[in-house]
Amino acid sequence: MTVSRKIIKLSSGLLASDGAGVKLTRFIGGPDVDMLDPFLLLDNFKSDNPKDYIGGFPSHPHRGFETVTYMLAGRMRHKDNVGHEGVIAAGDVQWMTAGRGIVHSEMPEQEDGLLEGFQLWVNLPAKDKMSDPAYQEFSAENITAEIQDSGTIVKVISGETDQGTVGAVKYISTTPLYLDITLKAGSSFTQTTPESHNAFIYVIEGAVQADGAGDVVTEKTLGVLGAGDHVTLTAGDENSRLLLIAGQRLNEPVARGGPFVMNTRAEVLQAYQDYQKGKF
Ligand code: MN
Repeated sequence: MTVSRKIIKLSSGLLASDGAGVKLTRFIGGPDVDMLDPFLLLDNFKSDNPKDYIGGFPSHPHRGFETVTYMLAGRMRHKDNVGHEGVIAAGDVQWMTAGRGIVHSEMPEQEDGLLEGFQLWVNLPAKDKMSDPAYQEFSAENITAEIQDSGTIVKVISGETDQGTVGAVKYISTTPLYLDITLKAGSSFTQTTPESHNAFIYVIEGAVQADGAGDVVTEKTLGVLGAGDHVTLTAGDENSRLLLIAGQRLNEPVARGGPFVMNTRAEVLQAYQDYQKGKF
């Protein structure tokens, strides 16, 4: 290990509305952080007012990337055009590889109470954009929680910790790391993050510093990490919880068209045509 990653940018996100009026905060995929290759979008939804979420995300398509839904509270029902249907609840993750195309809905399975979670969009390399759609879906009890001597709890959704705990979600093109980390006040956690990966943290609760210096990332804030081969994260004077996410840079051209993310404009137009013709 040689270079410890530092926070190079903070973002408190942008309030947005998507689907049928779901209020959310967009941290990646907006003006602040347009993208962080291979990550195209990061939304956080958190509300106990049903008006903010009850409309859900009715039927819509995706092509060319992966959508990762990680729930912290509440329940969402998903249903697609090839018969896959289920509910994900607090602590559950759904990693959906849209590949060449899927049409699905994502709707709240509740009429009141708190709904909270994240959706992350992970790009696919050109060679995998037209692959068969696939799901990896795990309930909370099937996501390994590594408990360290310091009291740190690391839920390993994808990737491998330095202590060797392997995540539930595997065989993803961009070899992502997706960790949900709970740190005791003042304690630290170190994790290898290959130089070929971009990385960021999102602080759910508390406050976290990287490399023991620089900007403190506070609650509901994204901290983009700079270059390095590992990161050391330290909680402030309260217990803290954060996501640490890293993924292999693709360094490919990105053509975005709403729910389709391809390499060229022509491929995006083709996606619209294929969707309209019912080829998904
Ligand atoms: Mn979707």
